[in-house]
Amino acid sequence: MDKITGTLIWYYYICPREVWLMAHELNPEQDNPYIEIGRLIHEDSYAREKKEITFGNIKLDILKKKNGQIVVAEVKKSSRFEKSARMQLAFYLYRLKEMGIDAKGELLVPREKKKVYVELDGEIEKELQRAFSDIENIISKETPPKPEKNKFCGKCAYREFCWA
Ligand code: SF4
Repeated sequence: MDKITGTLIWYYYICPREVWLMAHELNPEQDNPYIEIGRLIHEDSYAREKKEITFGNIKLDILKKKNGQIVVAEVKKSSRFEKSARMQLAFYLYRLKEMGIDAKGELLVPREKKKVYVELDGEIEKELQRAFSDIENIISKETPPKPEKNKFCGKCAYREFCWA
């Protein structure tokens, strides 16, 4: 479970082979933004401001609404990989919940004038838990799953490796 990161969750909904390849290369500690989110939320000065954290190619805004509700917002250029983005955001909310922080998520796609609310409920938590065990299963294998063409392949750092 410690090996599972937001990045792996994102790829899980696109390509299991990429999950294996990344997991065998990445240091998971480089991708633990929920610890940083937790720190920001606990800072005294936080109530007055919006905070922003960046990790990898992801930028999150941490907002505290008047009613005390904490919102983790992520801005996307397009909704092309929306399912991955939603589940990744849900994963951060899940981790925050484990830290005792109750937060909601918003996925914003300004170009498409789109806002997707992400909230943890029993169903999403179960889906995440299934993803965790599936990911653990994928990365415990000696070799990666076979490549299967998908809409991310053209942008993928492993495309030469998979398709040359
Ligand atoms: S190139 Fe395609 S099949 Fe290969 S790892 Fe990337 S997304 Fe997966």
